[in-house]
Amino acid sequence: MTYVNLQLNPERYTGYSGPYAKRIWDAVYLDNCPKYLAGEICPEKNILYKLISGLHSSISIHIAADYLLDEALNTWGRNLTLMYDRVLKFPDRVDNLYFTFLFVLRAVTKAANYLDEASYDTGNPEDDLKTQSWIEQLVYHPKLKFACPLPFNEVRLWKGKGEPDLMQQIQKQFRNISALMDCIGCEKCRLWGKLQFLGLGTALKILFSVNSQEHLHKMFQFQQNEVIALINLLNRLSESVMLVHEMWPSLEKVMGKQVSTPSDQPSMTGGHV
Ligand SMILES: Cc1cc2nc3c(=O)[nH]c(=O)nc-3n(C[C@H](O)[C@H](O)[C@H](O)COP(=O)(O)OP(=O)(O)OC[C@H]3O[C@@H](n4cnc5c(N)ncnc54)[C@H](O)[C@@H]3O)c2cc1C
Repeated sequence: MTYVNLQLNPERYTGYSGPYAKRIWDAVYLDNCPKYLAGEICPEKNILYKLISGLHSSISIHIAADYLLDEALNTWGRNLTLMYDRVLKFPDRVDNLYFTFLFVLRAVTKAANYLDEASYDTGNPEDDLKTQSWIEQLVYHPKLKFACPLPFNEVRLWKGKGEPDLMQQIQKQFRNISALMDCIGCEKCRLWGKLQFLGLGTALKILFSVNSQEHLHKMFQFQQNEVIALINLLNRLSESVMLVHEMWPSLEKVMGKQVSTPSDQPSMTGGHV
């Protein structure tokens, strides 16, 4: 097994772009909804589209937030124009980012007991203790309970017609998406892509497979990689949300026009299934 220090390999601009990168994204969306390219979204699978689009927004925001501004001088910094062009000028992409953030936050809150009691083995006892304490602080933070209302009614999703099919379909799609990640021709993008999609798959597993904390604890044994992926995904998404808020005031200056603020956006939790 190979261990990678994520702090030494931050998610940032890598130069991976062009038809290959676009083909991967198109395949990810197409797998989720065959009519994506025609601009039509299958309503019953809307939730998956929103989650993937929200994650895509987050990846684009991190690329823009840590961008190679001057290759000759190796100067890195924020590329506000890119952030605006890829994400902020599309209200639905910002909306989907918030949706995905709330979705993952809710999964973490729901799995609070499990995450608190899980053992964290970093190979360094001091770090293990710190990790345990930080997880406890995170999952039982009083603000979380208030900040995390139902982003959607997950129970309703499974109580609809053909629910077992839909769940199996989503699981299959996630396997396909994970396989697609192996085709990414940029090592760092592949690392972060795989990690974040695994985190999203874990959040789906938590929210859709069980209904109570008690069951969650008894029935699930998450792999260490899934827990790592879930918490890292939450971190990426929360940083993206923070960046959107931080960047907004500077945007008007850079774009030279008035742009709508996140609070002008349609409901962040809108489009419930
Ligand atoms: C899993 C993955 C991880 C990556 N990680 C990195 C990385 O760490 N660093 C890096 O520099 N590059 C990374 N890339 C490449 C990066 O995401 C872009 O593909 C690349 O920068 C080219 O961007 P683009 O403007 O052509 O549009 P892309 O981001 O490639 O988008 C392709 C098309 O998808 C649609 N689209 C864009 N955003 C959204 C959205 N939020 N919701 C719905 N539809 C959307 C648009 O129609 C767009 O034309 C990654 C790619 C993948 C597939």
